[in-house]
Amino acid sequence: MNFDIARKKMVENQLIGRGIRDRRVIEAMLKIPRHLFVQEALAAQAYNDNPLPIGERQTISQPYMVALMTELLELKGKERVLEIGTGSGYQAAVLAVLADHVYTMERIRPLAMRARKVLDGLGLLNVNIKIDDGTCGWEQEAPFDAIVVTAGAPEIPEDLVKQLAPGGRLVVPVGDQFSQTLVRVLKHEDGSYAVEQSIGCRFVKLIGKHGWEAE
Ligand code: SAH
Repeated sequence: MNFDIARKKMVENQLIGRGIRDRRVIEAMLKIPRHLFVQEALAAQAYNDNPLPIGERQTISQPYMVALMTELLELKGKERVLEIGTGSGYQAAVLAVLADHVYTMERIRPLAMRARKVLDGLGLLNVNIKIDDGTCGWEQEAPFDAIVVTAGAPEIPEDLVKQLAPGGRLVVPVGDQFSQTLVRVLKHEDGSYAVEQSIGCRFVKLIGKHGWEAE
């Protein structure tokens, strides 16, 4: 299996073919070897048009969903970005090449540890990982220019809106446990904010104080 060819096809068919336009997002996803973020047995499926299991009953998101969420953040290169739900570390890696610094939070320790290893292996040293409930954000490092939540929330997490810098963007799937709508919050300079709706989606549950209860 030639991963470089599979990755190029993924970018052309699944991303460009479906309307992803941000050149920097496209370049980042051409660059990051997604197959390193899944278990070896699944590597040949890493560029398929679907999410994949990463253990602990969690998933790495479909490539298109990663691209769309990233595009909605409108990163130019100088931003401090917060991600909730490190999972495999793939989304964090994409963010790491597009922004100045990435802070990412994961509640399941073994996933965070594995993600750390892969990110270090790729030399992506501008990523900090914290094992904690991300629904309360990362107060010490706030404010953030962009925040992305990669798990489904019951409502827009207010603490995350608070930790957005003026002019910042927050992208979060909001809905019930079975289906959500991708929502973008744009914070104005005066602290008020606007909410925009993007496409329907299905993510694993955001579990925590301002999320769902653990099963
Ligand atoms: N962005 C990931 C996809 C992760 S799936 C990737 O690129 O692979 C969603 C992740 O969110 C899971 O790993 C889950 O454990 C984590 N999660 C759920 N609730 C969380 C919370 N409150 N704080 C931090 N992580 C959380």
